[in-house]
Amino acid sequence: MSNNNEHKLAGKVAVVTGASKGIGASIAKHLAAEGASVVVNYASSKSGADKVVTEITGAGGRAIAVQGDVSKKADIDRLFAETKKSYGKLDVLVNNAGIYEFGPLEQITEEHFHKQFNLNVLGLILTTQEALKYFPADGGSVINVSSVVGESPLPNASVYSATKGAVDAVTKSLAKELGAKKIRVNSINPGMIETEGVHAAGFMESEFPKQVVSQTPLGRIGQPQDIGKVAAFFASDDAGWVTGETLLISGGMR
Ligand code: NAP
Repeated sequence: MSNNNEHKLAGKVAVVTGASKGIGASIAKHLAAEGASVVVNYASSKSGADKVVTEITGAGGRAIAVQGDVSKKADIDRLFAETKKSYGKLDVLVNNAGIYEFGPLEQITEEHFHKQFNLNVLGLILTTQEALKYFPADGGSVINVSSVVGESPLPNASVYSATKGAVDAVTKSLAKELGAKKIRVNSINPGMIETEGVHAAGFMESEFPKQVVSQTPLGRIGQPQDIGKVAAFFASDDAGWVTGETLLISGGMR
């Protein structure tokens, strides 16, 4: 598959953080289907990551699973060193790993704040910093997974919304900073997507999906594959003149 030049990402190497389930798993599969060799990063779900790798290799693609908590510098360094060891280089970084914890102002604690900022913002900055050492001279593509809440913050989610507002600022700042190195930096900003994380948080059983659908012109909840295919576009040369964008992928909800 990876040798077929009809594939948009033939010969490219991509790291997708948090790819053992949900949006990250779909992004990993879509990048692999376009010919990329994919590093499926995960924190704790080895079985989930192995399943994604098996699906990719079963379809003729290339992938490996690499454990690493991407809120930790040492784990990040190891993730990219293992990528280089297996595939020899890096062309695409997808910063997808993220956590969402909702709660009203009264319930915010230092722990709630640091947990989300350490992964969603600091981790994403540190992975990008490390990736910079591996991108070839002809450039690279960084895709940050942000959220509609970066632009339209939700009530009872001030900290999570703030992390995604910060991600959008980082995307725009680094796009300007890294353009001279031919590194493109864009973000994908999903609306509600039905993932394992959303189920685990109990959102699907709440009134929330109904409210979201009523505010969504295309009239449904998003699915992980709605995001995966757009990531493949941003990773590819089709988006070669696109940087610093934050693209809502939300069925029109804003
Ligand atoms: P999910 O189903 O909960 O999956 C999260 C993934 O991130 C898992 O693979 C998990 O790995 C990994 N992860 C968690 N902490 C990590 C860490 N410290 N280091 C490395 N990997 C870690 O989440 P999702 O719903 O797909 O969301 C993915 C991203 O999309 C997040 O950035 C989220 O903010 C954003 N987003 C989601 C929605 C939505 O409605 N779902 C909407 C907008 C934006 P393990 O399983 O191994 O822990």
